[in-house]
Amino acid sequence: MKAVRLSGLSAAAGAQTETPKLELCEVERPSRKTAADVLVRVLCVGLDGTDRELVSEKYGVPPEGEHSLIIGHESLGVVEEAGEDSGFTAGELVCALVRRPCTDPGCVNCRNGKQDFCETGEYVERGIKGAHGYLSEYYVEDARYLVRVPAGLLRYGMLTEPQSIVEKVWDEVQRIQQRLVWQPTTAVVLGSGPLGLLAALTCRCLGLDTLVWSKSAPDSPGADIVRACGAEFQQAVERRAEAAGAGAAAGTARSTDAAAATGTGAGAGAGTGAGDGARAASSPLSELLQAKGKRADLIVECTGFSPLAFDAMTALGPNGVLALLGVTPGSRHIRVASDAINQELVLENKCVFGSVNASRQDFETGLYRLQQIEERFPGVLDRLMTDRLTLERVPELDFGKIAIKAVVDVIPREQWSGLVQEQGAGIANSFSV
Ligand SMILES: [Zn+2]
Repeated sequence: MKAVRLSGLSAAAGAQTETPKLELCEVERPSRKTAADVLVRVLCVGLDGTDRELVSEKYGVPPEGEHSLIIGHESLGVVEEAGEDSGFTAGELVCALVRRPCTDPGCVNCRNGKQDFCETGEYVERGIKGAHGYLSEYYVEDARYLVRVPAGLLRYGMLTEPQSIVEKVWDEVQRIQQRLVWQPTTAVVLGSGPLGLLAALTCRCLGLDTLVWSKSAPDSPGADIVRACGAEFQQAVERRAEAAGAGAAAGTARSTDAAAATGTGAGAGAGTGAGDGARAASSPLSELLQAKGKRADLIVECTGFSPLAFDAMTALGPNGVLALLGVTPGSRHIRVASDAINQELVLENKCVFGSVNASRQDFETGLYRLQQIEERFPGVLDRLMTDRLTLERVPELDFGKIAIKAVVDVIPREQWSGLVQEQGAGIANSFSV
């Protein structure tokens, strides 16, 4: 069967001897080994920032003893063959969880089905770390890591994995905020990439007044989606040159992160370089919120530009929660107004947390939410999947030119419905919304 793999990897992360590159290859079709195994025929696979970074930051880890990794962790497929103990039948639409638990008996979270909170770091992630992904014509998976997708979600079921990341955040936020009487009205989403947009759409479904702050242009496809769901789009402004101090520092910031339109990397607080005791921790983001008279009850950081995480701490309102989702494999250092930020966190009961991966429950809530989004904002999820390509074209893909989200159609879309067994339109309810 055909697959797309990242070659030139060694089993030890960071020990690559050559630049990894994506290539189309012919590999043996996997076969079921246990009665719980399911053979899945892949319809499509979404690509995201992690896939881009697997190539550019070289952190992909192949399965033990191999030197290449089949990528792809956002999948949608159809059951081709199901083992008798799997609970699945041929023709069912499925997506797959990404992370598999570590084997350490002492890892209480992996031992309790919460591998998204693995404590050892020895987990395996399909398409990322230690196991092949789904960007191939078929894959085999144990039924416990498959999630049934209603046939009514065929067109956009591929978005279940990225949506599960958002659902995990909302689940955590609700648990954290049980510490007080919380009646949120305003959410701020940083970034208008696929994750930021799904976060914004979710916030709108939850009835929150939503502001999206992004480096993208106001006439970008992402900004259009933001407005289509009734959220407000605000293009991030460049930090003022005088606050950045030396021009050389600003130049460094430009060279280290072209995406960094929302900070210079040279001080997260105006006046940090002055040495005059100024402790203001304002930022363009907090100034904007102030000017609009908005109090951010929830901020979701989806840019992966780390200085913005510190800006968000100051922009967050009293009793608010800041969720950090951006993975930042770089080595950026900045100066921050640490006293002021710390004091605000303490005196205003603010909470900052990081979140990665998701549980089965988050996938299931994600399915419900995608359906809710589609009902409330018809067509918006289709518009999010801007770049469609075939398996053959993946090696030549320029990740920098993807408008919002790239999806690899392993099977042409017009053939999908013929492969899926009809099983009702959608989900009537969710356990966790
Ligand atoms: Zn673990």
